[in-house]
Amino acid sequence: MLTIGCHLSSSKGYLSMGKTAVSIGANTFQFFTRNPRGGNAKAIDPQDIDAYLAYAKEHGIGCILAHAPYTLNACSGDAAVRDFAYRAMKEDLERMEYTPGNCYNFHPGSHVGQGIETGISLISRLLNSILTPEHHTTVLLETMAGKGSEVGGRFEELREILDRTELSDHMGVCLDTCHVWDGGYDIVNHPDEVLTEFDRVIGLDRLKAVHLNDSKNPLGARKDRHAKIGEGCIGTEALARVVTHPALRDLPFYLETPNELDGYAREIALMRERADGPASL
Ligand code: FE
Ligand code: FE
Ligand code: ZN
Repeated sequence: MLTIGCHLSSSKGYLSMGKTAVSIGANTFQFFTRNPRGGNAKAIDPQDIDAYLAYAKEHGIGCILAHAPYTLNACSGDAAVRDFAYRAMKEDLERMEYTPGNCYNFHPGSHVGQGIETGISLISRLLNSILTPEHHTTVLLETMAGKGSEVGGRFEELREILDRTELSDHMGVCLDTCHVWDGGYDIVNHPDEVLTEFDRVIGLDRLKAVHLNDSKNPLGARKDRHAKIGEGCIGTEALARVVTHPALRDLPFYLETPNELDGYAREIALMRERADGPASL
């Protein structure tokens, strides 16, 4: 069965997210660990965690995906911004020990004119200062659109970060369909070639999650504007091929499309129908 969900608001806690996910036909979900624009995380409520873990087990919710705030920039030129990145990621990973065995996704960052090499070295330095063998969370680098000075628009850049991170066996990659398309990887006309390239440069065994988004912009636009499934330049057919691809179909998929819950429910049903066939009686 396809593992698919969408981005949900974390403001009411884990149990609430689990119930919302189930109500829209999802069996996983993504959430922000704190306000996406930064700030402090809400205190962990152990009772909410216990209730969630029981609910998740009962309803077949497996691996879930936490997303770091957008303001987390490990390779900023500003030491205060890098310090926030350090504190936020360290604290997020400590909090995630309450729900061990899940994934934590972050945007590698923007080097803001310092150059790719400095960016990559600052990002791996941050990871090396935070990751410990005691963590039970897999940290994912997200493939980026290559907008502005973003690091991670090319597979080679992600590979380089992994190579320079000592505990890289605690790490993986999250492939965002909108971002790779905007970055110039043609998943519409050449999906197999893109996956072969991913495998050659990074290794498909590193791929732990997929962000399933259509894109408002054409191939290589380097823009990063998500569209609803079928309303962008990637299209329903290409996205259905992604969720049914033999190399990908066992991964968890997360919609980050501009939708309310009813729209997410429709997109989840559509992708399930393509992957699992029409719901049987
Ligand atoms: Fe993201
Ligand atoms: Fe994404
Ligand atoms: Zn995006």
